Amino acid sequence: MENILYIIATVVIGALVFGFLIGKIFSSSNLKGRAKLLEEELQKSSDSLQRIIKDQSRQLASLQNENGDISRMIILFPDMAEDITASISIDDLSTTIIKVAKQLLEADEIAFFVAEKENLLLKTYAGFSKEAANSMIKIKIGEGRIGWAAEKMIIMADEDFRNESILIKEQLHKGGHENINIDICAPLLYRGKLYGLIAVGKLSKNIKNIRKFLMMISHLSAATMENIHLISEIQHQADVDGLTKLYNITYFHKHLQIEIDKAGRFNRNLTIFLFDIDNFKLYNDLNGHPAGDVVLSSIGKLVKDNLRLIDIPARYGGEEFIIMLPETGSELGMQIAERMRKQIENLNISFPQNKPWERLTISGGIATYPLDGKNEKELIKTADIALYNSKKSGKNRVIPYEQSFAALE
Ligand code: GH3
Ligand code: MG
Ligand code: MG
Repeated sequence: MENILYIIATVVIGALVFGFLIGKIFSSSNLKGRAKLLEEELQKSSDSLQRIIKDQSRQLASLQNENGDISRMIILFPDMAEDITASISIDDLSTTIIKVAKQLLEADEIAFFVAEKENLLLKTYAGFSKEAANSMIKIKIGEGRIGWAAEKMIIMADEDFRNESILIKEQLHKGGHENINIDICAPLLYRGKLYGLIAVGKLSKNIKNIRKFLMMISHLSAATMENIHLISEIQHQADVDGLTKLYNITYFHKHLQIEIDKAGRFNRNLTIFLFDIDNFKLYNDLNGHPAGDVVLSSIGKLVKDNLRLIDIPARYGGEEFIIMLPETGSELGMQIAERMRKQIENLNISFPQNKPWERLTISGGIATYPLDGKNEKELIKTADIALYNSKKSGKNRVIPYEQSFAALE
């Protein structure tokens, strides 16, 4: 609108100048000379007016383009925002961020980083070469353009980097990614905390407009990341026993059936190890319930620290524990169980007080799929029988189900 008024004003002023010139020329005595002068001045004036109009039209066209960009982004934004906030995992969010940045900002190169301690880890990218991506896999916060924007926690465009002081520029050249062309870096911030960063390269659009939209996208993404963390934390708390920090029995049962089905499909073994603390009632009676709780949490930590990632340890209830060992036969299962029994004995918890040479021990039983049980119920039952026979045959031992009856003789 302003520009249109400007053009009209220019045309009016031009016409006035033109009229003034004509008046001046006609008042001269030499009519022929005046006519010539008039012709020249007229030409000059019309040339200059045409230049101004051309220039203004160009400006108007670019303004219209700019407005078109903004309108397009405004139309797209609500759906994009919904997509971002609907993400239920970081993987989900990374895919959405790439899609949104491509569609909304029409950017060719996008990289999404997740903040972890003092680094930014490249979660996903589009458009960048493999080499470029490799150099951005792990960026120290503070190093290079990307690291700098993350440390300062402000959105930084190419011109902002170029306007930095010489001292800061040295910092911007650190790290392995300084040769990659990044047009704009937007840190993902929520309540003053850094969650990650979006880096965009090869932008065809006006940075001024993009900056605002990218800020909105990054803010929404950070808030979504906080939500994802909270949801997974709540989920984790629902699955885990508060005292031992091992899984609870509901989680264990759910996964045991899944793993048995998997073992059946792939013709693999699966072993479960069930154990119970020996004479724990006496331990509690002598040392008090809080001391008993400390023992339970120490055993929980030991169990957790000594298993593979695929194993699932759980508190079965009271002072009983159960561990699922996928892809494990009876022999390997026994090795793992026996190692754990010894480690618990070596925790050096004296027991009971009046017999300080005695140590807190456990008794356990193991059962292996498919030999000792074809389903969850059978497997737990046979492991329980093996545990019972371990107790009966003298405690402080682990026995496989098939051998547990012989142990009683
Ligand atoms: P056994 O060798 O036959 O297993 O004897 P036990 O004394 O361990 O077995 P019993 O079933 O008689 O006692 C289990 C004890 O475990 C009783 C209970 O006080 C204790 N216990 C169960 N849950 C907890 C807990 O959360 N904290 C504490 N401190 N003790 C617990
Ligand atoms: Mg018990
Ligand atoms: Mg017991």
